[in-house]
Amino acid sequence: MSEKKDNLSCVLYGAGDMRLEQRGVPKPKDDEVLLSMHSVGICGSDIHYYKHGRIGNFVVNKPMVMGHEASGTVVACGKDVKHLKKGDRVAIEPGVPCRKCIRCKSGRYNLCPDIFFCATPPDDGNLCRFYTHAADFCYRLPDHVTFEEGALLEPLSVGIYACQRASVTNGDRILICGAGPIGLVTLLAAKSSGASEVAITDLDEGRLSMAKQLGADVTIRIQSKDGREVAKQIESVFGESDKTIECTGVESSITSAILATRCGGTLVIVGSGTGDSTIPLNTARRKEIDIRGVFRYANCYPVALNMVASGQINVKLLVTHRFALEDSHDAFRTSASNKDGAIKVMIKCSK
Ligand SMILES: [Zn+2]
Ligand SMILES: [Zn+2]
Repeated sequence: MSEKKDNLSCVLYGAGDMRLEQRGVPKPKDDEVLLSMHSVGICGSDIHYYKHGRIGNFVVNKPMVMGHEASGTVVACGKDVKHLKKGDRVAIEPGVPCRKCIRCKSGRYNLCPDIFFCATPPDDGNLCRFYTHAADFCYRLPDHVTFEEGALLEPLSVGIYACQRASVTNGDRILICGAGPIGLVTLLAAKSSGASEVAITDLDEGRLSMAKQLGADVTIRIQSKDGREVAKQIESVFGESDKTIECTGVESSITSAILATRCGGTLVIVGSGTGDSTIPLNTARRKEIDIRGVFRYANCYPVALNMVASGQINVKLLVTHRFALEDSHDAFRTSASNKDGAIKVMIKCSK
């Protein structure tokens, strides 16, 4: 067969410069699989790279394939791959760490300084037709779990990890700041981790009504940009939370999160702001609030898959739009604008 294989790929060259182009089909290394890509979700970070060409110190200074929330089908296996075979449908955990450093050995491989992570410069993602990945970071999907659910394991893993970092448990009253995709998966994870009551905030009424559908007990439409005012508004309808999970990264929201958490409570910061924030740290000290950070997740894919496969968590409602790989520009525009009520936009990579 001399016919060239189609590997249409969605490649970011820099801020606002995304191109669809043909790339070669990669060969799997001994411990890798070659995947025919199926569903890839667009994430807030993809949109940020698309608009600005960088996130903090991660700068797109050479062309980078987009996409990291993905699922696909195994089409070839490297010779050392034992647990997967051709035809298996898999979810792809996008971060492959070095497995050798102290962070990796202690299990917190998300903090590995040498981690490969799809669509984080300079690493290519998987918004393309064919892609190779470390086989042990691919998880076989049971027949009844869809490709879209497989792709959604990525954001869901963030929500599960955030709840683990907050030690969410039975009877907890949880406040989640922000009802974007990460806030919403955190809501799902908190409810199924035993939280008795979950309140969630946002500026957008549409997102809050989605939160209601997904099981939020209290939804709070934020009216002010002043963190102290927001805290008062939260306390008037929900009181103080045991644990607060901040998913916006906005300074005023972190302020209100500290003020609305009870003494001795926990604040987990998931949202990545644009820089460091000025927050009422002395109040946090006096209230003995434990502040914990979240960077992606570790060891959460198997948990996320079990929760979805067993029906404990239903992520299907999150998908609001679908596009073909050829229409990636439209998909990114839809995801970036608020006007169509987009929560999770899925791109279909197989023909
Ligand atoms: Zn993501
Ligand atoms: Zn490492």
